[in-house]
Amino acid sequence: MPSETQQRPRQPRPAGKRQPPGRSPAKGQAARTGSRPPQRRRKKKKPFPYQTVILGLVLLVLLGIAANLTNFGQVGKLGRLHVPLWVDKQILHETAGGRPGTKLDGVKDIAIHYVANPGSTAQNNHDYFDQPETQVSAHFVVGLEGEVIQCIPLDEVSYATNDRNKDTISIEVCHPDETGQFNQETYDSLVKLTAWLCDNCGISRKDVIRHYDVTGKPCPLYFVDHPDAWEQFLKDVKKY
Ligand SMILES: [Zn+2]
Repeated sequence: MPSETQQRPRQPRPAGKRQPPGRSPAKGQAARTGSRPPQRRRKKKKPFPYQTVILGLVLLVLLGIAANLTNFGQVGKLGRLHVPLWVDKQILHETAGGRPGTKLDGVKDIAIHYVANPGSTAQNNHDYFDQPETQVSAHFVVGLEGEVIQCIPLDEVSYATNDRNKDTISIEVCHPDETGQFNQETYDSLVKLTAWLCDNCGISRKDVIRHYDVTGKPCPLYFVDHPDAWEQFLKDVKKY
């Protein structure tokens, strides 16, 4: 018996001394593979950069999706928004040439226009827009007596502002003569409608533009010929 107890400790001791670096005594069997730890450490250092790059790409994609969802969210709200009772809702038929049915990309500005047809009423202009062969439209028309007709749903594209059709809400405004100046009733309704759109569509009151600001076309004529009148209109919208 004494001879056995003396022989056993002599064999395990050398193996036990080589194993320990960083390992628990319970894994004593790994002592036979004392050369493995350095190889494993080298392999672990390489994968980290790849994982970081992949994580970065995933984050970029998620940020892009979030940015798009923000626009979709804004347009989605516009689709569910109820216009006030003073707006006569007469949405154009799907056959109307000026109603493509395309969703807006978002809304950045409200674009003001004049109908360029002296003496025509809001209803006249609505009915003109509602024809299959007419390739023009607007979200709203403000009439000679201050009446307001909605022609295009708030989340859809109208054909009024050229390259900015995709991200603007358009308002056509009637006028009694060729100067393009609006009646007081018409002007007051235009201020009220523009302010309501700013308040309810997530648009700053600074983001109200003329068709002229997009293409250089003299529209709305009176506000292009009289920049001071345009500035006053913007002030009236801000004050409303
Ligand atoms: Zn215009």
